[in-house]
Amino acid sequence: MKIIDGKKIAQNLRKDIAQQVKTLERAPGLAVILVGDDPASAVYVRNKDNACKEVGFYSEKINKPAGITQQQLLDEVVRLNNDDRIDGILVQLPLPKHLDANLVIETISPQKDVDGFHSENIGKLMQNKSYLRPCTPKGVMTMLATTGIDLAGKDCVVVGASNIVGRPMLMELLNARATVTICNSKTQDLSGKLRRADVVVAAVGAPQIIQGDWIKPGAVVIDVGINRLENGKLVGDVDFDAAAEQASWITPVPGGVGPMTIATLLENTLTAYKNRK
Ligand code: NAP
Repeated sequence: MKIIDGKKIAQNLRKDIAQQVKTLERAPGLAVILVGDDPASAVYVRNKDNACKEVGFYSEKINKPAGITQQQLLDEVVRLNNDDRIDGILVQLPLPKHLDANLVIETISPQKDVDGFHSENIGKLMQNKSYLRPCTPKGVMTMLATTGIDLAGKDCVVVGASNIVGRPMLMELLNARATVTICNSKTQDLSGKLRRADVVVAAVGAPQIIQGDWIKPGAVVIDVGINRLENGKLVGDVDFDAAAEQASWITPVPGGVGPMTIATLLENTLTAYKNRK
């Protein structure tokens, strides 16, 4: 069994981006909007801001009060759409309940939608024509590429069907010409499906629900899940120790998909910069 070292792959990607930034006319710019004071979201936004600075990007961290109106938030997005220093706009989710996240995402210019959530970018992913692809699934594809395994013809099972992870992951794997099964909370015989999978991508958000003996010997296991146990320990959706005995390659939690998501956000911002040029 080999570990897919997300931390290392992300570090290499960031180094490569930093090198490229040195050759550009101006620094690519990323604006991150945080609404309210949710502590977890604040940490994510701070990490993104630090990652931007590390690679030499121009970064704007915009904090708005939880009571901001829908129109004020949309106005802020439009201002950033028209700001030439800004190549990428990201609105940290979740938003307070009175705000329509979908409307906010649809207001971001598709050329600056570095999260890849705008319907135009999702539509392009469906057609295998996209350039701004959702960060977590795209980061998973970068990780899979490091194994050297050709995904064409492989049986892949994605567990979880959210708009931000599971669904775009399905399309990424299909675009790589894999045969893909996607599961949700109503799926029957999940273990039976996983036992036939060459590649498993777990994105549920339930600690260690995927058991080791559900993994086919030699399968590749990607664990997107991040779950904090009562004792404070972070675990994925997969029972790592037991699955590692079966898998040929496996991602750890932490240090797997997590660091790749931020590195891929930087990659998308650089892509958006180049496309705007
Ligand atoms: P989400 O929006 O809550 O979606 C969870 C999905 O899992 C839903 O489609 C749900 O099915 C499905 N599901 C729930 N129980 C299931 C079960 N027993 N069997 C099969 N499917 C089941 O979650 P998300 O935003 O995609 O996030 C998933 C996990 O990934 C979370 O732990 C999150 O923290 C983590 N995450 C990590 C990163 C990273 O950078 N590493 C990025 C994003 C998310 P239904 O559709 O039927 O409800």
